[in-house]
Amino acid sequence: MKVLKFVADGMLGKLSRWLRMLGHNVKYVGALSDDKLLKIAKNEHRILLTRDLELYQQAIAKGVKAVYVEGQDEAEKLAKLAERFGFPLEIDLKNSRCPKCNARIKPIEKEAVKDKVPESTYKYYDEFWECQKCGQIYWQGAHWKRISATLEKAKKILEKSGYSTSNSHLSGIS
Ligand SMILES: [Zn+2]
Repeated sequence: MKVLKFVADGMLGKLSRWLRMLGHNVKYVGALSDDKLLKIAKNEHRILLTRDLELYQQAIAKGVKAVYVEGQDEAEKLAKLAERFGFPLEIDLKNSRCPKCNARIKPIEKEAVKDKVPESTYKYYDEFWECQKCGQIYWQGAHWKRISATLEKAKKILEKSGYSTSNSHLSGIS
């Protein structure tokens, strides 16, 4: 898949975690000055994601690639970004990055996580992934249903907007 490189402003922590799970390379370090964000975007060839219209306009004026992120919730934001950049709204853990630190995650033997996850988790799940940098362990647990539901919602929004991009009612979809 085509990995996109982003830098996200301080208001987009949640969206950053989603994009990382989808496999994109997202720099997010909390609150940074506008100048610093613009510099990172320019120097590291990252697309600036921002909820700040003024910062967005500054970026465009300086020739820095930027997206003014719109949407009420994560599903809507993801749908808009997927529409713009054409990436799939599917999580393939082979491509995923750690939502916490942006490093790649790798499959890890079940035996190796025995002391690192709750006993019940170890009992019920067989596939685990480990972040190469921060050591966080991941598995497709009960929370996975919520993750899938959000992605399904995003796909529905995307489908609708794809069929009628000029439909002004779309902004009301929740
Ligand atoms: Zn990590």
